[in-house]
Formats: sequence, structure tokens, C-alpha cells
Amino acid sequence: MSADARRIHPDLSKVLLDEETLRDRIRELGREISRDYAGRRLMVVGVLKGSVMVLADLLRSLSPDVDAAVDFMAVSSYAGTASTGTIRVLLDLRENPEGRDVLVVEDIVDTGLTLASLTETLRARKPRSLEVCTLLDKPDCRKIPFSPKYVGFKIPNEFVVGFGLDYEERYRQLPYVGVLRTPSNGQ
Ligand code: 5GP
Repeated sequence: MSADARRIHPDLSKVLLDEETLRDRIRELGREISRDYAGRRLMVVGVLKGSVMVLADLLRSLSPDVDAAVDFMAVSSYAGTASTGTIRVLLDLRENPEGRDVLVVEDIVDTGLTLASLTETLRARKPRSLEVCTLLDKPDCRKIPFSPKYVGFKIPNEFVVGFGLDYEERYRQLPYVGVLRTPSNGQ
């Protein structure tokens, strides 16, 4: 990657997780998930749009012994930097998850409302198993209890962007995760 793409964006106050740190941890998660699902038929569900980077890296890290299919969902989430607490399914799965081993891949768990609601929706469709892998987790921000099985990094309560995460559809392409300079982050 060019040095220009790696340059810290002026709207960020700091880089929290650099490319190498992200890559290494996602590889570890891939190894763990490959062990857990070896010989099984896995349905990996990427939650659009924030999960695209972690999903692509995670898929590349899965062992060929895992028989993995990929599907996508999109749900409504943030309008700004504050959670609305309501989700709507904007794009649904193309394949039926009934009887499948489903692994939802998400960018970040904050209040837990999105994933609690999404997993409830999916559980009603009777998958054989249902687990969640999230790149980032802000455990201090929960409004309801929610514990994803696979967590890349626990991070503090700051609004982060990059590596798929946006603020008003910007910054997704940054190859690192950084803290946005916004009034809500007090910077
Ligand atoms: P929750 O329902 O757990 O509060 O929020 C989950 C969704 O909120 C994520 O999928 C993401 O879209 C958004 N979100 C939560 N915290 C952050 C953050 O720090 N940065 C960004 N860009 N999005 C966030």
C-alpha cells in the first residue's frame, strides 16, 4: 500500500489500531474460527456496510477445511454519532439460514441493540448454531447485555472510523481504525 493511503487523515485525532495490528488479529480470529468450524458448513453473514474490510480479511484467513458460504444483511443503524436504538432490516439474506451454522460478522458492538435485535431475528429462523464475530467491541457502552463469541479488540468509548467504519459514509477506506475529532469525542 502506498505511503499516501497510510497517511493519517486530518479529521482524526489518533490512530487506534494500525494495519499490521488489525491484520494480525484478524488472522488469529480466522485460525480460531477455522478450528471451531472445521469440517462444518459455515454460513458467514456480513453486516453491510461496516463489516466489508474485516469480512474480506477474515474469509482469507479461514482454513480450506471450512466449507464457507457468504451472505449479506444490511440493517439501519446510526444517523450521526448517537444510537437510535431501532433497527430495520434493509437487505435480507438470499439463503435460508435454517439448520445452518451461522456466523454474523460485524464491525463494532456499541450499545448491543443492533446485534441483539439482529440475532433475535436470525434465531427465529432456526439456524443450527448462531455466533457473532465483531472486529471492535465497546463493552462500556452496552444498553443491553450482549457478548459476541469472537472479538477482535475491546476499545474505549470513543467514536472511531476507518477499516470499513464510517461517519456519514466517509472514512471507510482508511486502512486503520482511528478516533474522529468530533465534539462528541470532546477533541
Ligand atoms: P449498537 O447497536 O451496538 O449501538 O451499534 C452498532 C452499530 O453502530 C455499528 O454497526 C456501527 O454502525 C455503529 N457504531 C457504533 N459505534 C460506532 C463507532 O464508534 N464508530 C462508527 N463509525 N460506528 C459506530
